[in-house]
Amino acid sequence: HQAVGMETGTRKGMFGKADFVLMDTVTMPEFMANLRLRFEKGRIYTFIGEVVVSVNPYKNLNIYGRDTIEQYRGRELYERPPHLFAIADAAYKAMKRRSKDTCIVISGESGAGKTEASKYIMHYIAAITNPGQRAEVERVKNILLKSNCVLEAFGNAKTNRNDNSSRFGKYMDINFDFKGDPIGGHINNYLLEKQRTYFPWACKTFAFSQLTSIKSLMSQTSLSPQCSINDGAEFKAVADAMKVIGFKQEEIQTVYKIVAAILHLVSSLPSAGRSRLKVVSIIADLLSTKSDMVEKALLFRTVATGRDVIDKQHTEQEATYGRDAFAKAIYERLFAWIVTHINDVIEVKNYDTTVHGKNTVIGVLDIYGFEIFDNNSFEQFCINYCNEKLQQLFIQLVLKQEQEEYQREGIPWKHIDYFNNQVIVDLVEQQHKGIISILDDACMNVGKVTDEMFLEALNNKLGKHAHFSSRKLCATDKTLEFDRDFRIKHYAGDVIYSVTGFIDKNKDTLFQDFKRLMYNSSNPVLKMMWPEGKLSITEVTKRPLTAATLFKNSMIALVDNLASKEPYYVRCIKPNDKKSPQLFDEERCRHQVEYLGLLENVRVRRAGFAYRQTYEKFLHRYKMISEFTWPNHDLPSDKDAVKKLIECHGFQHDVAYGKTKIFIRTPRTLFTLEELHAK
Ligand code: ATP
Ligand code: MG
Repeated sequence: HQAVGMETGTRKGMFGKADFVLMDTVTMPEFMANLRLRFEKGRIYTFIGEVVVSVNPYKNLNIYGRDTIEQYRGRELYERPPHLFAIADAAYKAMKRRSKDTCIVISGESGAGKTEASKYIMHYIAAITNPGQRAEVERVKNILLKSNCVLEAFGNAKTNRNDNSSRFGKYMDINFDFKGDPIGGHINNYLLEKQRTYFPWACKTFAFSQLTSIKSLMSQTSLSPQCSINDGAEFKAVADAMKVIGFKQEEIQTVYKIVAAILHLVSSLPSAGRSRLKVVSIIADLLSTKSDMVEKALLFRTVATGRDVIDKQHTEQEATYGRDAFAKAIYERLFAWIVTHINDVIEVKNYDTTVHGKNTVIGVLDIYGFEIFDNNSFEQFCINYCNEKLQQLFIQLVLKQEQEEYQREGIPWKHIDYFNNQVIVDLVEQQHKGIISILDDACMNVGKVTDEMFLEALNNKLGKHAHFSSRKLCATDKTLEFDRDFRIKHYAGDVIYSVTGFIDKNKDTLFQDFKRLMYNSSNPVLKMMWPEGKLSITEVTKRPLTAATLFKNSMIALVDNLASKEPYYVRCIKPNDKKSPQLFDEERCRHQVEYLGLLENVRVRRAGFAYRQTYEKFLHRYKMISEFTWPNHDLPSDKDAVKKLIECHGFQHDVAYGKTKIFIRTPRTLFTLEELHAK
């Protein structure tokens, strides 16, 4: 066995320590030295117990092939060098052997390698399942793998941090039958960042590059200069993937048309004249509606005043706002529709648990990491709140639960100090008092509400909060602008947010006229995307939930879901900002190690025990390896029997006896017990 710590070369210290738990002293310098050494030697993965720390290599490594998969298949985590496959296999085994729902949470900042990691994990699971080559299982696997390609085409964008940055969070459940084969799945997506500047890129795969297939739609415009050779191949891959997933030809055509319509809306809509009418008529064609209706929706808004319904003309500014909001909304609904479509074809149908046993799940979460830009707005606020929630989950699962269990079991335990970020989670999400509530209140006000008024409300309500500050509250702090900035002291560091745009983005208003326009489209797919367009102006009464509240609700649901599963973690680190395979930027890496809480993680792990089990269950499994316990023991309690069993094999120095459970410090002991059991 090529076990952890015995990774080839490790003894000579060549590749550093394969598990941070094996460090001589738990200090930042030693942690960083090990991380750097391993990165430089091309060992991008390192364990902290069952957590995998990964450093983006920024170059292709030959470590994901079939032979590597075979090395990890069915092995115990600590038998092999650290790898994503080790944790994927551990999650898979927990699911298969113990019928546990598990989840793999992948976190890290933009460009750290989360999405790549999630794909390798899926690839691994696909490779080790369905030995019987059942057709239905192959179909599901194929769709699960292909869905990435489609979602990336629409949901990713080039940013200055990552050429292929996910602008949405993704949680994918894979369902398994009693044989451990994938039989279905479900995707949840979170907050598609629909910045206007992003969608031309997201759409390019479709609209810019495949002029051949939709030339007739696009020929009147000059959208082709951004087209490149590469895009052609990319386009074909996406088109093929859509076909495999089961999109019908008309549906794929509709997707192209919608994308083309968005591009016409945002990039080539002149404000007046004959050319304007021409563009409007192209848009109308693409959306299967009428030119005059598009024109009207762009320029007027229907308002109900008492019993009268009138058409109110937009100001120039309102018209621009309306048009952009419309383009974004179409884009967002298109994306949501694509996700729903994928879910429809992979949803588990007709699974009879009485016949087939429990249907278990492995969830994979790939969600945007912490973001600190030069200019941070509403999107960063949501993203960073999401990371606070996940950090809180991590604390609860890994740190807090662990310590509490030792206390409960009466096992001596040195308390580990860690920062509990619940206070920041509360700052953002608490009812009535939190930032989201304050923002929603501001948005509810009738009349003109400005971003500055929102900032003022924050100042009034959060003046005393230790994790909140603004220029008004701290006049000497020149890094903050009056009337514009506020700062949150996040667990990962301080972030200054500019309130500009918060109100608009949170309200996310789309004039009803656009919804009705789309609902009345003769294209059934489009119509389906806009069900609320059915309501007439006098029927619309309820205010929709705000963007921040929708996001908050989805985060709470996500965390509840994750908390119900056995978690496995991948912590991704970005070695430098230059996308260089050589450079290990000490400063940047240390910051990430800090905010991912990796040192605390090592401390808890070292203080702790790898394995625990109730005496009764432990005996049930291992009683045959000792004459004192097989077939039955005559000792006063199961605890005494377990003690005897452990002592006769000489493991007493590696265990602690709790009130109801035995705790085993190192995985190797357990491994040996398993081997004895197998004999
Ligand atoms: P974002 O939050 O912006 O979506 P991310 O964490 O998902 O970022 P990825 O898109 O997974 O980041 O990775 C960024 C780039 O880094 C990839 O496009 C690829 O070039 C490189 N990369 C990441 N992981 C690996 C790997 N294991 N091997 C080789 N290259 C990698
Ligand atoms: Mg990504």
